Amino acid sequence: MQRLIILRYSEIHLKGSNRGFFERHLYDNTIKAIGDITANLHKGGARYIVSDYNVNDEKKLIARLSKVFGFNWLSVALCVKNDVDEILDAVKTFNLSNCTFRVSTRRADKSFPIHSSELSAMAGEILLKNNPNLKVQLESFDKELKIDIREDGFTYIYLDSIKCVGGMPVGTAGKAICLLSGGIDSPVATYKIAKRGATVVGVHFHSYPYTSERAKQKVIDLAKILSQYCGKIKLHFVSFTKVQEEIHKKCNSKFMITIMRRIMMRVTEKLALKNKCKAIVTGESLGQVASQTMEGIMSSNAVVSMPVYRPLIGDDKNDIIDVAKKIGTFDTSILPYEDCCTVFLPKNPIIKPQLESVEAEEAKLDIQQLVDDCLSNYEIIDIEPNI
Ligand code: ATP
Ligand code: MG
Repeated sequence: MQRLIILRYSEIHLKGSNRGFFERHLYDNTIKAIGDITANLHKGGARYIVSDYNVNDEKKLIARLSKVFGFNWLSVALCVKNDVDEILDAVKTFNLSNCTFRVSTRRADKSFPIHSSELSAMAGEILLKNNPNLKVQLESFDKELKIDIREDGFTYIYLDSIKCVGGMPVGTAGKAICLLSGGIDSPVATYKIAKRGATVVGVHFHSYPYTSERAKQKVIDLAKILSQYCGKIKLHFVSFTKVQEEIHKKCNSKFMITIMRRIMMRVTEKLALKNKCKAIVTGESLGQVASQTMEGIMSSNAVVSMPVYRPLIGDDKNDIIDVAKKIGTFDTSILPYEDCCTVFLPKNPIIKPQLESVEAEEAKLDIQQLVDDCLSNYEIIDIEPNI
């Protein structure tokens, strides 16, 4: 009798002849998630099975595996041979109390001598005998014991399924560069794009010495949390100090944020091309702040030709916060360290910037020089999961 973890996907089922491509990425990403824990991984049909691990590592394994994009459910199961006595011995080890339950048997191995319903009844009887305060209930039950008799000669018996993150395996949807601030929104946007299979590259603009080392560390910490889901993240830290000083000195302050965004986008597009990314990702949500109006977004898009994805565009702040809490970035995001956008923050930012007036204001700057300065003044940190 062996204890192991069964992982199941769902959307990958819909793939046709290229299913293998998704499955291979899922396999590789699972190996990476298992990381330094000793365990075996093998694929059996549409399931991935993690076995031969130390039971003391099981909790840690589950925490890591449940964050691999592509899996929808996992269960800790007992594995025995397709043998009635072995199966019923395994059933005896399940302790249920004070609940309603049912047993469901699936018999893919048609040579197994007992019918599904009969085996379910035998297993149910054992459970009832061991735990007198149980009640069988075939609909709306509290617990379900599943007995899965496979064609490969092994039977898996398990009680609970743990919900995983779903999505598609990272690495199956191309590479995207995410503008990562230290705020609540952009980590959630990054999570969402990785969830659909994108490999993530990050870029953060800082205004050292106006922004501090702690603000930088906050972004590193956020990226570490994200990398538990997204895998390794190549994070670019670009100095934005000169840009901000120049805009502050030469431009009407109400255009500060709009022009900053446009320069960020230009620099990001160049980094994207260098890293073979096919899209830029931001954490903007329509109408959330003055710069996130249709006009503001249009003025940012106007300076790049690469597609810009905004996974949160239709999300309410509260919904974004819920996701940030669920994925574990919220507590770090709300640490009160300054962001470059809060330095030189104008009192009255323009809400609906018209392209001509933005361009006229920008003409006061040597944009090309500022972009080049940014591109010759950045640091790369490779972020690995914080596990
Ligand atoms: P966030 O919570 O992600 O900071 P926000 O609601 O505070 O978003 P803004 O500050 O207007 O909104 O930023 C909009 C988007 O611009 C961010 O979601 C992020 O993608 C990008 N961004 C803002 N500041 C930075 C920065 N310093 N470095 C990189 N990207 C940034
Ligand atoms: Mg912000």
